[in-house]
Amino acid sequence: MKNKLCVLGSINVDHVIRVPYFPKAGETLTGYDYQIAFGGKGANQAVAAARLGANVQFIGAIGQDQIGHTMCSAFAQDGIDITAIEEIPNQSTGLAMIQVADSGENSIVISAGANGDLSPELVEKHQAIIAQADMLLMQLESPIEAVTLAAKLAKQAKTKVVLNPAPAQPLSQSLLSLVDMITPNETEAEILTGVKVVDEQTAALAADKFHQVGIETVLITLGAKGVYVSEKGNGQIIAGFRVQAVDTTAAGDTFNGGLVTALLEGKTLSESIRFAHAAAAISVTRMGAQTAIPMRKEVEDFLA
Ligand code: ATP
Repeated sequence: MKNKLCVLGSINVDHVIRVPYFPKAGETLTGYDYQIAFGGKGANQAVAAARLGANVQFIGAIGQDQIGHTMCSAFAQDGIDITAIEEIPNQSTGLAMIQVADSGENSIVISAGANGDLSPELVEKHQAIIAQADMLLMQLESPIEAVTLAAKLAKQAKTKVVLNPAPAQPLSQSLLSLVDMITPNETEAEILTGVKVVDEQTAALAADKFHQVGIETVLITLGAKGVYVSEKGNGQIIAGFRVQAVDTTAAGDTFNGGLVTALLEGKTLSESIRFAHAAAAISVTRMGAQTAIPMRKEVEDFLA
């Protein structure tokens, strides 16, 4: 099959509870509206790409528990090839405990669980998937040694490497030099380049820093304002779509999934950004992460 996308990344179960305020140390507080949701940046991006039409193979890890299996079944239903999702013995599936206060602020505690066991050895085991893919999409919720090895294997096989550097953390020159396309948001761009992105000029400065380490294509997502895109130093802002946003969770993940899907179909970079903007715009009009990610037909109708 052509146009293969390999996503390497995290799988989390999100436990979300609304609280009137954040409890103090030692306090017991009654929350409400408790929900379990499927998340993890890797999983969200794989689901987005699959729903939007890509042929996705996922390299990831779950624990030895029911929720991990339930999530894998959901991924398979979305059309994702789950054969390279490993079940780690005596481990739990990654999880996020999310409190959302009435003020709208959230407070999140993550347990990497099985995501922390996505080792270089597991990457090696599945290297054929990386080598046979046209593109490898990764984030930073997986061990950095595994991400780096996957990028090296991809480079050797001429598989394009797309890195969504989230959550932000400083990265080595050696990893960055293996990346073909990077997609930070404003905060991540600042942490990686030291440039505070506040407008087009500062976005261009940050993008140049990425170009200097050898990254050809830089997309700095700017929330409702769209994206600053720079190819080999030629940059511009491409605005997003105006919608009534109710929850921006996974907007970035939907954008990344949409972007790579369109690129794999041979669309130009600006056409692909338009497609990704449309998918992400639809996602912000809905609550949740994976529940908010649209199907391809919805994006086509939105763009028609
Ligand atoms: P998140 O962490 O919430 O998933 P992010 O910080 O990684 O998101 P953003 O830069 O906020 O990413 O947004 C990514 C893309 O989502 C934007 O480039 C845009 O296409 C779309 N988007 C985000 N917010 C809005 C909005 N309010 N209205 C329309 N589109 C939006």
